[in-house]
Amino acid sequence: MKSNIELIFEKGNENYQPNFIPKMDIKEVDINKILSKNLQRKDLPIPNIPEIEIIRHFIKLSNKNYGVDTGIYPLGSCTMKYNPKVNEDIARLPGIANIHPLQEENKGCLELIYQLSKLLEEITGMDGFTLQPAAGAHGELAGLLIMKKYFESKGIKKKKIVVPDSAHGTNPASAKMAGFSIIEIKSNKNGEVPLDQLEFAMHEGDVAGIMLTNPNTLGIFDREIKEITRIVHENGGLCYYDGANLNPMLGICRPRDMGFDIVHLNLHKTFSTPHGGGGPGSGPIGVVNELIPFLPKPCLISTEQGIVCQENNDKSIGRIKAFWGNFGVIVRAYAYILALGAEGLKKVGQIAVLNANYLRTQLQKKYYLPFNRICQHEFVLSDKDMPNEVTTEDIAKRILDYGIYAPTIYFPLIVSGALMIEPTETESKHSLDYFVYVMNKIYEEAKENPEIIKKAPLNMPIKRLDAVQAARNPILHD
Ligand SMILES: *Cc1c(COP(=O)(O)O)cnc(C)c1O
Repeated sequence: MKSNIELIFEKGNENYQPNFIPKMDIKEVDINKILSKNLQRKDLPIPNIPEIEIIRHFIKLSNKNYGVDTGIYPLGSCTMKYNPKVNEDIARLPGIANIHPLQEENKGCLELIYQLSKLLEEITGMDGFTLQPAAGAHGELAGLLIMKKYFESKGIKKKKIVVPDSAHGTNPASAKMAGFSIIEIKSNKNGEVPLDQLEFAMHEGDVAGIMLTNPNTLGIFDREIKEITRIVHENGGLCYYDGANLNPMLGICRPRDMGFDIVHLNLHKTFSTPHGGGGPGSGPIGVVNELIPFLPKPCLISTEQGIVCQENNDKSIGRIKAFWGNFGVIVRAYAYILALGAEGLKKVGQIAVLNANYLRTQLQKKYYLPFNRICQHEFVLSDKDMPNEVTTEDIAKRILDYGIYAPTIYFPLIVSGALMIEPTETESKHSLDYFVYVMNKIYEEAKENPEIIKKAPLNMPIKRLDAVQAARNPILHD
């Protein structure tokens, strides 16, 4: 049954009178003089509701929401860390928020974009950057199109990309979209890329290179990374680094030094933009000198007249986003990096790793840890050995009852019943300890009272959904 407020919002009520708002006392303009008929809307069905009811409606909805401002959000591979509010204030300064990219006075903004590229070059070790891609997956696509164009420009046909089975799901999807077919490599028992299999795959001949995340989605740093990139290069390939979750590497290790040629970063994960729910993101890509001519157009270059925009580059893969990308995200990342400085960024990396290893060592006392070694920003548990056949889904649902967002579940696919936990560097010891307390409590419940867990969540506005029905027979509206 719907509450009154929801009903009011949907229906409105023509009897409501707007309170206190005086009648308009300026002359109404003749709309036909400004807009031609074909651009005018016939009607706009806005419900007639007093302001107080609208406010209550949205506040009520927002109270049902959960975010990193509400509590710990250990969603592996998503880096749901706290983003300082000062970066929000800066992105909302009128001169930044209200500027139009076609305005003449946008020099300061172009300068900011250019300066952020320089900082990202320093952080990753790459030679050139574009900030145009709107998300990690968009950066991957752009990076792979660059790879393709690079080989085409040399008159070489390359059709395949090597992707380890520990990769993020977007990697094979982007490779496919860029027109490559995928050679999947199975991780070895340490969660790393087996060199002999990589060598074997590269010998297929028409392999453009490898896409790799390091640390991978198990949170494991591949100790043979220099050897991996060497093998790929030796066989005429390029190395693509998925740097979506760069946190643990910040100030400690650079993709370029590992031997990579192309890297994408997720500014909305690592560099302080709140994300989730499909909001604007940014997935800049950095490349080595040889690939700079292939970057998307337009490029920004520094001249004596200041930063200018260069359009005439015929090797470029072309334009991949309107104007300069999601500028607000770029501003937040710039403010964040300048505020932290080199030392601060290094600390981010160290604490991201420390927090994850603290949780790992606490939780592995009860939960099964398939890859038992020091992790980076995240680690993966599984429901193997859980009492009374309690599953990963049960655990994730029960966590919600304790006021915590659930970890990523059933991913990566190489661990059956995976629970992928990433605490991030912004959680305090107090909040990590609460998470451990909840996980231990759930383990005890699994032993003593599994029925509670199998029915969970019990305290949420929506109870356990019938996932099979929802997939087979989706009801998308009521
Ligand atoms: C999140 C993520 C991506 C994709 O980024 P989007 O912005 O969601 O497109 C790619 N790789 C890894 C490792 C990620 O964690």
